[in-house]
Amino acid sequence: MQVVHSVSDMQALALKARQDAERIGFVPTMGFLHQGHLSLIREAKKTSTRVFLSIFVNPTQFAEGEDFEDYPRDLERDLALCKSEGVDVVFAPSASEMYGKNFQTSIALGAITSPLCGATRPTHFDGVALVVTKLFNICQPHIAIFGQKDYQQVTVIKQFTEDLNIPTEIKMAPIVREADGLAMSSRNKYLSQEERENAPVIRESILALAEEIRGGNTSVIELKTQFKNALSRVDCQIDYIDIVDAKTLAPLEQITSDCVIAAAVFFGKTRLIDNEFMELGKK
Ligand code: AMP
Repeated sequence: MQVVHSVSDMQALALKARQDAERIGFVPTMGFLHQGHLSLIREAKKTSTRVFLSIFVNPTQFAEGEDFEDYPRDLERDLALCKSEGVDVVFAPSASEMYGKNFQTSIALGAITSPLCGATRPTHFDGVALVVTKLFNICQPHIAIFGQKDYQQVTVIKQFTEDLNIPTEIKMAPIVREADGLAMSSRNKYLSQEERENAPVIRESILALAEEIRGGNTSVIELKTQFKNALSRVDCQIDYIDIVDAKTLAPLEQITSDCVIAAAVFFGKTRLIDNEFMELGKK
């Protein structure tokens, strides 16, 4: 396994792989890898001859006061995991390598970033779009794999790769969970014992809404109230709960088509997200 820190070395290696007719599968991450990340590597291997994985805690997607400094990092452990999963190349640049002194460019996304996480993190997805575009230009992937856990992120990435004619296929992989249903996340490490015990309430309550919807309840306002009531029983603060159109992410009042139930909830200072995709067809 090769570990590359320089942009020019990584790009040269990627262009050479393309010349050699390799098919590059790419898994972008912020490191502190868990089974969710490893599932993306396995997915990439299914359709690629070379797997590249990036580890980069991207400063431009964190706002002032968020956890950029505290974000958990353990490069040695991550590299050992990548090696055991058969990753071919790990790209782990520094922030100064990615954003030199004269860096000036930004990407401004449209309405797709208004709901859900974009509502409380208004600059987040512009930062994601910027780094993913840069990583794609550096790593030259034929296919890139993203987790459904960040449903809005993968939807945004599909949108701007299409808008900007970026020739990389975007694939979404299922959410990997702990035994009690909590979605795996590098941020779960921040949770106290009590917060960790309470956190599965997000999943349980989203599943309860899914059951209601399958039972014929189409009223988003009622469903959101039900979620708020369920979470009021534990010590947490809801950032948002919403039910949106699965493609456009437009908030729904009545559920009439495929939708996503998505929530972000704070346990102490730790903000956790989860979602459930509901395939309903047209009602
Ligand atoms: P991150 O390191 O948190 O930026 O995540 C890197 C990639 O891993 C993103 O595409 C995430 O959606 C994905 N990911 C994170 N957690 C999970 C999970 N529990 N299951 C599946 N994919 C995940």
